[in-house]
Amino acid sequence: MRKDAIFIGVEVDDAAAADAELAAKLEEVCPVDIFAVSAKGSVEIVEENLDECILCYQCVETAPDGTVRVIKLYEQPA
Ligand code: SF4
Repeated sequence: MRKDAIFIGVEVDDAAAADAELAAKLEEVCPVDIFAVSAKGSVEIVEENLDECILCYQCVETAPDGTVRVIKLYEQPA
């Protein structure tokens, strides 16, 4: 599952996205509410909040290795 805004994309592996416990944890750790728990208990990415991402990587640290990725869609200034 991948959602992109203008500056930030967030990707969650399908197996991890289906994990209700992980969904609840991600909802709790992200300071700008990019993750929510869907009605099915899976991870939902709140698209309209994506560009609020502060690149704290709490989501990446909370999830099992490699299952959540935060992708910068813009070039770093030189
Ligand atoms: S890096 Fe931080 S602000 Fe961005 S999605 Fe992950 S927890 Fe939220």
